[in-house]
Amino acid sequence: MISPIISEKSIKQLRKLLEANDRIVITCHLTPDGDAIGSSLGLMHVLRSIGKDVTVVTPDMVPRNLTFLPGVRDVVPFTRHEEFATKLLADAQLVFCLDYNEPARVDRLQPALLASKAPRVLIDHHLHPADFCTVTISHPEVSSTSMLVFRTLCRLELFDQIKRKAAECIFTGMMTDTGNFSYNSNDPDLYQVITELLRKGIDKDALYQKACNTLTESALRLNGYALGEKMQLFPEHRASLITLNADELKRFHYEKGDTEGLVNKPLAMPDVVWSVYLREDPTQIKVSMRSKGSFPVNKVCRDHFGGGGHLNAAGGEFKGTMEECVDRLLKAMPEYDQYLPTKKQSK
Ligand code: 5GP
Ligand code: MN
Repeated sequence: MISPIISEKSIKQLRKLLEANDRIVITCHLTPDGDAIGSSLGLMHVLRSIGKDVTVVTPDMVPRNLTFLPGVRDVVPFTRHEEFATKLLADAQLVFCLDYNEPARVDRLQPALLASKAPRVLIDHHLHPADFCTVTISHPEVSSTSMLVFRTLCRLELFDQIKRKAAECIFTGMMTDTGNFSYNSNDPDLYQVITELLRKGIDKDALYQKACNTLTESALRLNGYALGEKMQLFPEHRASLITLNADELKRFHYEKGDTEGLVNKPLAMPDVVWSVYLREDPTQIKVSMRSKGSFPVNKVCRDHFGGGGHLNAAGGEFKGTMEECVDRLLKAMPEYDQYLPTKKQSK
C-alpha cells in the first residue's frame, strides 16, 4: 500500500463537492506539458465514469507530442474557443485547477476562471500555492500532479474506476515530469503506482515512445542545430545557454513542443550546473531553466524573468528583444555563483 499523504479534511471536502456537483471543468496551466494534460485527462476519464459531465479547458493548444492521449479531442483550448471556454467556466458547478499554483498561470483564461462562481479545487505540486481555491491539495514533495491525482482518486475510493485510458494519461504525466523517471524519481511509491497502472493495461514502452521520443525530421534537426551551433558555455558560472530566435525557429518549421527537453541536454556535462534556453516567441522571450543539486533556478526565474517553478526546473518570460534578454541573464549570472557547489560536491 502506498502511504496516505493528503489530509483527511481535504478528502472529505472534495467528496462532498463531488457528491453535490455534476457539471465539472478541469483547467491546467498555459503551454501545457505532459503532467498538465495527463493529470487533467486522467481525472476527466474517471469522473466521467461516475456519471459527471466533465470538460477539460486549457489556456492554449495541446502540444503535438501529447495529441495521442485518449480524450484529447474533447479538450477545449481557450485560444481556439474563447466564448465556449468562458461559458463552460461560467456554467460549471465545480472547477479543478491542476498543475499550477496561482491563477496567473492560466494566462488569458484567468478572468473566466476567477469570475466563475463554482468552488475551485487545486491539485498541484508547485511551491507556494496561492489562496484562490476552496480545497487546496498542494504537495511540492510529490514529483507530478498526475501522481497526486492518482493518490486523490484512491482516497476517494475511485481506484477501480481508473481504467486503461485514465491510467495512460496518469502514467504519461508521471513519466514526463520526472524525465522518464530520471529526476525527482526516488520515491518508492512511484513504482508501486506504476505497477498498478501496468495492471490496468498501459503499454509503458509505447507511451514513452509517443510522449518522449517522437519528433519530426525538422524538429530533430532543430535540436541538433541548437546543441551543435547555438550552445554557449560560461565555465566561470558553470552555466550553459541556448538561444533560438524567430528566424531560426521558422527555418526549422518550429511547432510547440519541438524543443521539449532540449534545456536538459547541457546538464549531461558534469561541469554544467545550470542550463538556460531562451526562445523567441511572437510576443515575448520564453525562458526555460534546469539545474542540478541545490542550484535554485526558480529563484533566478523569479528574480529576473517574472516566473518561478521548481528548484531544478523553472521558467519565466521576458518582454523585450533576445539581445536584451541575454544581456539581462549574463549580468545576473554572478549573483548566483554563491549557489554553485564546490567542485568536490558536484562530482
Ligand atoms: P518549462 O521549462 O518546461 O517550460 O517549465 C518548467 C517548469 O517551470 C514548469 O513546470 C513550471 O513549474 C515552471 N514555469 C515555466 N514557465 C513559468 C512561468 O512563466 N511562470 C512560472 N511561475 N513558472 C513557470
Ligand atoms: Mn507538473
